[in-house]
Amino acid sequence: MSYQHQYVDGTRIHFPVGKVVCIGRNYAEHAKELNNPIPSEPLLFIKPGSCVVPLEGGFTIPTDRGLVHYEAEIAVLLGKPLSQHPTEEEVIDAISGFAPALDLTLRDVQAGLREKGLPWELAKCFDGACVLPPFIAAGTFEDVTDIGIRLTINGEVRQDGNSALMLNPIVPIIQHMATHFSLQPGDVILTGTPAGVGPLNPGDELVLELPGASRFESKVF
Ligand code: ZN
Repeated sequence: MSYQHQYVDGTRIHFPVGKVVCIGRNYAEHAKELNNPIPSEPLLFIKPGSCVVPLEGGFTIPTDRGLVHYEAEIAVLLGKPLSQHPTEEEVIDAISGFAPALDLTLRDVQAGLREKGLPWELAKCFDGACVLPPFIAAGTFEDVTDIGIRLTINGEVRQDGNSALMLNPIVPIIQHMATHFSLQPGDVILTGTPAGVGPLNPGDELVLELPGASRFESKVF
């Protein structure tokens, strides 16, 4: 199914689906669970807009390339361009919305690439590798350093984090990204995953939430 940015009330957001800029190891507990050191500088990677699929109605995952891991993450939609050392105020003004997203990862493929010191595209950029529900307007949140993110699979809470636990908080990490490359309206920032990542399988029933703000049910086919 093709994806287009929209708000939870069904309003379409007329930005193209841009790149998805991701940060790895942004929660200490998650770095620890995968036996990864906490990076001294933020670890960034980019997924192409072509890998984004809608959460609602269910989605498919690859079944022929080893383990597919879910990573529930707070997604930030940008509505204005940012580049060249934007101020905090400019970043806050550029944020259009928030949503709970899934950054899907071919974990076995990623392990093989990492062993060889190779880039992660084959593990992170496949079609369907970023799953997004509709966004809620940015103004809903008074404090972006206190946004929850929760994933429940088959009735069991697997991930339950909060932006307060991020090693690099939302606004400074977007400032950092924009200092290294331009961000455009329609780009999405995935802000890293809390502890509790694990495999996803066809048949799994998901509930993905920004607790108290938005809640979506979905299914893996
Ligand atoms: Zn991730």
